[in-house]
Amino acid sequence: MPTALQKVSASFAPQRNLIGGEWRKSVSSETYASTNPARTSDIVGHFPFSTKNDVDAAVQAAAAAYPSWRRFPTPQRGTILRRCADALTAEKEPLAQLMSREMGKTLVEARGDVQEAIDCAHLYAGFARIFGGQTLPSELPDKAAFSQRKPLGVCGLITPWNFPIAIPSWKAFPALLCGNTVVLKPAEDSPACASAFGRVLTKAGVPLGVFNIVHGDGEHTGAALVDHPDVSAISFTGSSQTGKIIAEKCGRSLKRCSLELGGKNAQIVMPDADVPLALEGAVWGAFATAGQRCTATSRLLLHEKIHDAFLDRFIAAASTLRLGDPLNQRTQIGPLINAAQRERVSDYIRIGANEGATLRQGGKAPGGKLKSGYFFEPTIFADVSANMRIAQEEIFGPVCSVMKFKDLEEAIHVLNETKYGLSSSIYTRDVNSAFVAMRDIEAGITYINGPTIGAEVHLPFGGVKQTGNGHREAGSAALDFYSEWQSVYVDYSGKLQRAQIDTE
Ligand code: ADP
Repeated sequence: MPTALQKVSASFAPQRNLIGGEWRKSVSSETYASTNPARTSDIVGHFPFSTKNDVDAAVQAAAAAYPSWRRFPTPQRGTILRRCADALTAEKEPLAQLMSREMGKTLVEARGDVQEAIDCAHLYAGFARIFGGQTLPSELPDKAAFSQRKPLGVCGLITPWNFPIAIPSWKAFPALLCGNTVVLKPAEDSPACASAFGRVLTKAGVPLGVFNIVHGDGEHTGAALVDHPDVSAISFTGSSQTGKIIAEKCGRSLKRCSLELGGKNAQIVMPDADVPLALEGAVWGAFATAGQRCTATSRLLLHEKIHDAFLDRFIAAASTLRLGDPLNQRTQIGPLINAAQRERVSDYIRIGANEGATLRQGGKAPGGKLKSGYFFEPTIFADVSANMRIAQEEIFGPVCSVMKFKDLEEAIHVLNETKYGLSSSIYTRDVNSAFVAMRDIEAGITYINGPTIGAEVHLPFGGVKQTGNGHREAGSAALDFYSEWQSVYVDYSGKLQRAQIDTE
């Protein structure tokens, strides 16, 4: 018997591509199933496995919509974004429920994910009336000079499943505000969330063809979007491996490309820290979304004076976390996204043990009722050293590696000693230690007395080193990716004036 939630989902999240305002099947008619990771017998829907032709149709629709969207006054584009915020707000609860069911984050976190999209829509709607450049003096008389932002054209957005509405909104809303049209290729594990997002945007009045969706995998559908000659820019969030492939292709065709890749984030706890607060932060940072966040706390660096007692409390707290159906209000940890991810996390448990780390908590898939999905116990490794693979590689699961340090200098050195640089955190009551950390930590995001997760939409989001390629999402920084500067000079002197020459 289908549940009420199952029955509504087909119209709520159309199992089609969104192309030029129409919900269309793939030209191949091939589909694939999206399943509930907490209960794999529950099929959320069958979504198109899109071909190169579908991608081409979506890009053509976006290209056709571009000239009028580009010329539509920016404050009016902002008004449409504000309507998107209102429409998302009106449907926040069913969107959150669909998200919990399709990708396994708890309902509380799923509501946060939708809220992030709402915040993002409000943010860029607000920018619409102050969207401008600079007016600057010219070095020559009777000459004006200013700069203005121009859109890029059709932007391809390729997104992961772990923030299935928030991340598409981080990309789509600034792109649309700048006057671009977009084609979204959402992750194959969360197509229903993407369709539901597209339906809300369409209902809110985003004009036909301005926002398009093509479902499918990375190798065919995603690659076709990256390769398409009429796509001006690609914004990608996902694995480093895929990011490198995309960057290489974009490099060859000089396509603008923004990459948001992995992280190996650490939380430092100093001996003067508020221990209960630091503990709460570590549990939330390491195990929320079952550790499947690019900002998850996958390393916990404890000062030697507090190491043993803190570790015991951390283990005790992790062991009492309630795993279960993410739609159940009491659940604290949902499942991993799919069988491959659970296999990957299990591999890292073997790798950690073989490297000589001590498994102190978890380390396996739970049995009993939880065998219905891809659950994995919150896991803690102690006696980890900085060069071990479990301290260096992104695991993307509920696994935290605990390390001991002697002083702040060593802690920051260890924190920095990975190829990534996304998020970081330090718990201390000493203002001097906090400022040294802010100065010396190599990361795009640093929290003082907060966990490594919890970014807000109006600040730049992104990382240094191999976490990305220098661009930032969110905040005003995202506008720099989705627009080009045009410098305009207006000479009203009526004569030729030569810059740098006629200035003496
Ligand atoms: P994750 O491990 O988080 O799933 P991936 O990098 O595999 O990360 O996937 C993130 C997104 O990138 C998904 O939407 C996926 O379909 C897409 N993708 C994967 N491979 C490619 C590729 N070669 N070209 C374009 N997109 C891809």
